[in-house]
Amino acid sequence: MNSQTKTVSIRLKNLCKSYVEGGQPHVILRGAGSEIIEGEMVALLGRSGSGKSTLLNLISGIDIADAGEVEIDGKVITSMSDRERTLFRRENIGFVYQFFNLIPTLSVGENLKLVMELNKAGEAEARCKELLDAVGLNDRYDSFPDKLSGGEQQRVAIARALIHKPSIILADEPTGNLDEETAQDIWRLLDTLVRPSGGTILLATHSMAAAKRCDRVLELVGGELHDITGKVD
Ligand code: ADP
Ligand code: MG
Repeated sequence: MNSQTKTVSIRLKNLCKSYVEGGQPHVILRGAGSEIIEGEMVALLGRSGSGKSTLLNLISGIDIADAGEVEIDGKVITSMSDRERTLFRRENIGFVYQFFNLIPTLSVGENLKLVMELNKAGEAEARCKELLDAVGLNDRYDSFPDKLSGGEQQRVAIARALIHKPSIILADEPTGNLDEETAQDIWRLLDTLVRPSGGTILLATHSMAAAKRCDRVLELVGGELHDITGKVD
């Protein structure tokens, strides 16, 4: 890619976040910054407790930073109102969680269509079938999440994250709760399905094999982000 055509998809500037624990501030992010280019697949490494989930939650706007800026597709989401941020997230971000987070009282089809309905997007039925086909679960449209295996639930969650064609996909240890073989299936799916969608992907993972498949690798250490691309072995 020519440097002049690169568009920044996610720009993080000096992000700071602390939690108060037992009356003491516990600093999680101390000036984390980075730029992720449109279409890049980026791995986010870091020890357990280093703040990976916290960072993904700030990027998605689920949580709010104490200081610093999150800019997505040129929009500064840290300056938005709660309402604006929620709407922005619904339209522009797809999130895949470690524990899938499907709504247990809704069928697979209803879980997928909910995203489209919240966005008042048309073609929900057609998109739903298209995505279930893509993840190999078109026969599970009417099933409830608790009738599916962990791997199947994560495939539904990936379909849900993609159904509204978000420009950014965030995944928080998407295979952290799956056995090795099922995890491989999910990585293959992320490669074959998510990557060609043209969206930007940031995924928190402990898997070095997964990190090596990515264009770039960032590591959270001491509350700061370091680019360690090429240094992973
Ligand atoms: P990671 O995803 O890298 O394992 P997290 O972002 O979940 O790390 O957590 C980073 C640190 O912040 C941990 O010490 C965790 O206990 C703390 N933490 C996360 N969320 C909260 C919260 N809502 N309230 C208090 N502490 C929190
Ligand atoms: Mg986490």
